[in-house]
Amino acid sequence: MFGGKYRYKMRITHQSAAFFSFSDSVIRKYRPVLLKNCAEGRPVTYLFRIFVSVNTKSDLRRIIHIDMDAFFAGVEQRDHPELRGLPIAVGHDGPRGVVSTASYEARKFGVHSALPIATAKRRCPQLVIVDGRYEVYKNVSRQMHEIFHEYTDLIEPLSLDEAFLDVTENKPGIDLAVDIAREIKQKIRDRLQLTASAGVSYNKFLAKIASDQRKPDGLTVIHPSRAQDFIDTLRIEKFWGVGPKTAEQMHRLGIFTGADLRARSLPYLKERFGKAGTLLYGFARGEDRRPVVVEWERKSVSCERTFGHDISSGSELHEHLQELVADLIGRLRRSGFRGLTLTLKVKFHDFTQITRNHTVTTILPLDGDLLLSLAGKMLEEVDYATHPIRLLGLGVSNPPHDELQLHGDWIQLEFDFPPRP
Ligand SMILES: [Mg+2]
Repeated sequence: MFGGKYRYKMRITHQSAAFFSFSDSVIRKYRPVLLKNCAEGRPVTYLFRIFVSVNTKSDLRRIIHIDMDAFFAGVEQRDHPELRGLPIAVGHDGPRGVVSTASYEARKFGVHSALPIATAKRRCPQLVIVDGRYEVYKNVSRQMHEIFHEYTDLIEPLSLDEAFLDVTENKPGIDLAVDIAREIKQKIRDRLQLTASAGVSYNKFLAKIASDQRKPDGLTVIHPSRAQDFIDTLRIEKFWGVGPKTAEQMHRLGIFTGADLRARSLPYLKERFGKAGTLLYGFARGEDRRPVVVEWERKSVSCERTFGHDISSGSELHEHLQELVADLIGRLRRSGFRGLTLTLKVKFHDFTQITRNHTVTTILPLDGDLLLSLAGKMLEEVDYATHPIRLLGLGVSNPPHDELQLHGDWIQLEFDFPPRP
């Protein structure tokens, strides 16, 4: 039934040949979006055009990146008026605690996320540390997404407080993406009493950079005609995927701005930055064809490390496991995902692979020591002494299905964001 509609749409819209190249896998992936909108009685052209996001080769797309301003801190200041106007940091006030979000008042003192709480307090002695309320943030995020869905179902969340929206074709039929961004910001303000910054452009790379231009409460549009000038003067640190380490490497190569990056050839960048080199080559030219990928429901969060050499030493593996746990916790925190099962993936020197699982009855807390001990136990069951390991991976899956799994007793004690007293 669906296949027939798809062919029909191609005939009536007379779009370019690019539309003919959708693979089966893409169609399968987007089928639920199409069927949902079909059921809601949206016009055939709408159904067709949501494919634009998947495969466009032009500047036709309209992408919005929405990013809440100091999200966790903003929610705390909203719900606790006595905290408004004060430098606050959301995080757990313990010896190993780190700042999860700092209010703008605190940022003036150099307090930012991922900073150890102890350092943050030194920089800003009057800093108020507030325990995070993860369930509340998750709820607010859900409310944000309800607003997004009034415009499009092509939503790709990057974290609880950030998402890309493809509004090339949108439900109310609004022509300008900037008008949609303005409306969304207003609705977030009216319904949630929070502020967001929005970036509007024709691809994800530029939309994300745009949203960061005038924070907080900003709205920035990068038009195709202005994009190249904008990118040329952009500092390399601002490029997507360029972290401190890559930035340092870039500086050593004499690359400080987008213009410097654009002066390098594709083979040059590929050789030095691998796959990212290709992406960066495109970014320097304002090209980014990555689609807005709808995430139906995240099923797992994981990370892995391939080692420079095969490892058979327990202590060395344990060190890597420690890093993996820290990485995993960061990912869990950013994504908001929680699960009941911890999985250890092991790839041996001969590329054979095994996984070990450990499932608990209430969600795994974001507790480094606990996760490390669980992962360590699973690793101990692996015979790495005679089978050296080339890759370790760690993941959490199996999201909770009921309240009991979410709020088990022992979790309350261990949880990284204990409830406020
Ligand atoms: Mg944010």
